[in-house]
Amino acid sequence: MVIFKKVVDIQAFLSKKRAENVAIGYVPTMGALHDGHISLVQKSKADGLLSVCSIFLNPTQFDDKSDLVKYPVSTESDIELLLSAGCDVLLLPPVDEVYPGGEANFPVYQFGHLENVLEGASRPGHFGGVGQVVARLLNIVRPDTIYLGRKDYQQCLIIRRLKELIGMPEIDVVICPTLREEDGLAMSSRNRRLSESQRSVAGTIYQCLVSIQAKCGTTGFSIVKKECEDILNSKGFTPEYVALANADSLELLDDYSADVPMVALIAANNGKIRLIDNIMLQ
Ligand code: AMP
Repeated sequence: MVIFKKVVDIQAFLSKKRAENVAIGYVPTMGALHDGHISLVQKSKADGLLSVCSIFLNPTQFDDKSDLVKYPVSTESDIELLLSAGCDVLLLPPVDEVYPGGEANFPVYQFGHLENVLEGASRPGHFGGVGQVVARLLNIVRPDTIYLGRKDYQQCLIIRRLKELIGMPEIDVVICPTLREEDGLAMSSRNRRLSESQRSVAGTIYQCLVSIQAKCGTTGFSIVKKECEDILNSKGFTPEYVALANADSLELLDDYSADVPMVALIAANNGKIRLIDNIMLQ
């Protein structure tokens, strides 16, 4: 695995590869890697692409700066994991390589409803920061394919829209399944911060999502939503949202609908740790 810290160096390396007709598969991350991240690298390898991963803890997407400070960092073990997955290239840039001259030099894109609903409503400015960094990283890496985790469903839709906004519609967006722990908890870098007792109830979020999926067609969503909120509260969570939405547009739905593709999404806090997850209803 070749590790780059400087943008000019990775650009020179990837230009050569492109000239040799090598297709590039890209996995952007913020580090503290787990098997969910690694599954994206493995998918790009399985697709026969040169796999490029980046680790960059992007300050501009943290609406809550204390979350940024507490975000786990484990670069050495991340590198080990990437090596054992057979990752080809790692971009590990300092902030001033990603935002030379400051972040204000890099455009923030608008996503309308997509950036204001659900995660966007809970975390104002978050998707502005995501769009800003992903646009910059896509311009650096210029991949053929970007691999994203369904775990961050709204982010997947934002990045699909972003590639159009930045004039890179040709990039193939591959959305990969959410990897889970045995109790269903979606793998997340934030899980490392859960205490033993918080961890023991964290699978409840997925159980709620499965019940929303199972009760489609038999029970009204408002009843299922209330049941989920009650269960989450009883386990010590503070739910931020338990929502049903059109899976393409993220327009919120009051009830199950046979006419549109649906996704159920939950965000809930346990103490200071905020967890999100989702499930498709088809
Ligand atoms: P992050 O480092 O949290 O920004 O995540 C980097 C990429 O890994 C994003 O595309 C995430 O959606 C994806 N990802 C995070 N957790 C998982 C998971 N449990 N399963 C699959 N992909 C994931």
